[in-house]
Amino acid sequence: MSNDKNSRAGFATRAIHHGYDAYAGHGSLNPPVYLSSTYTFPTVEDGAARFAGEQAGFVYSRVGNPTTALLEARLAELEGGEAALVTASGQGATTSLLWTLLAPGDEIIADKTLYGCTFGYLNHGLAKFGVKVTHVDLADPANLDAAINPATRVVFFESPANPNMRLVDIAAVSAIARRHGALTVVDNTYCTPYLQRPLELGADFVLHSATKYLGGHGDLLAGAIVGPAETLTQVRFYGLKDMTGAVLSAQDAFLVLRGLKTLALRMDRHCANAQGVAEFLAAHPKVSVVHFPGLPGFPQFELARRQMAQAGGMIAFELKDGIEAGRRFMNALKLFTRAVSLGDAESLAQHPASMTHCFYTPEERAEHLIGEGLVRLSIGLEDLPDLLADLEQALRAA
Ligand SMILES: *Cc1c(COP(=O)(O)O)cnc(C)c1O
Repeated sequence: MSNDKNSRAGFATRAIHHGYDAYAGHGSLNPPVYLSSTYTFPTVEDGAARFAGEQAGFVYSRVGNPTTALLEARLAELEGGEAALVTASGQGATTSLLWTLLAPGDEIIADKTLYGCTFGYLNHGLAKFGVKVTHVDLADPANLDAAINPATRVVFFESPANPNMRLVDIAAVSAIARRHGALTVVDNTYCTPYLQRPLELGADFVLHSATKYLGGHGDLLAGAIVGPAETLTQVRFYGLKDMTGAVLSAQDAFLVLRGLKTLALRMDRHCANAQGVAEFLAAHPKVSVVHFPGLPGFPQFELARRQMAQAGGMIAFELKDGIEAGRRFMNALKLFTRAVSLGDAESLAQHPASMTHCFYTPEERAEHLIGEGLVRLSIGLEDLPDLLADLEQALRAA
């Protein structure tokens, strides 16, 4: 009922209501948190029918739980996908999906710039099991055209990429992959479906670290995959149930559902604050370069306008005096918090070369376009003048 009522509603309305009927059951405004590992069968025949998939209902929470199922329905709706599967972390989403899609002898083509642990999983994990991992600069779709071949099963990228903010043309790359029979997987963590919906642009799967903007409060780890129902059933039964076991708890699913209620509001504020910070940094004499899709000087500004509703809340930049100035700047910050992760209410600053991307060798960082002096900011929900004042004093100290 609530699904029909909301099917043509706006994003914020669906993020608050989709899939839950608050009048059902006990009339609880918030969805119940089902803290149960297992589910009862009235008779042995019911149990058998449920295992065979002939009877609706739950069996065991490693396969499904009513609270996580509600979160899955809501995320599928917001991304415009057929189905979703939630996991214990973003890393659990990546590994559950790729271990299901790939077999020895297959190739995955991934962008040059990736979240550090995704890079680690591909090159130190997947590669051990006979999957060929090829990194291609997907910022130019022609590079994919040149590299793709009959063994290529998956094309994987982030846009904007963590940490250097390079974009990938989702429609162009998905079209090339499809023409060659490969599946496109987009990590949409930086944008959330409020800013960008890769499935509508032709991608096959969307991944999330729901730890970030979807949860939004830095108090949980969670992940999600959105895509075709049939394949996601395989991911649920092989990748998640048998291989990774990266199952999201009902309690954390509830917290992500709570986060989603304010996603639209929060993203508007993250984006407005980030635009203000990016313009401030771009005009500052100590800053050499600012990577932010909302600046007219950003090399892919036109692409950003085409595929993102707003420029997002993440910024990367470099200081003219390099890595040592970057260290002094970061240590002088008083309001910005020195921490990894992103998408929280608090503004966060981190140094990818020594933190999130320290598992790359220096040569790999150079090869993968991650500058040694790059500073990454996750712009929070504070008052913009306070953020600018903190940056100004820290830049003076740099
Ligand atoms: C954090 C992050 C991940 C991994 O997610 P976890 O929830 O930390 O496991 C994957 N991709 C991107 C872009 C991220 O920022």
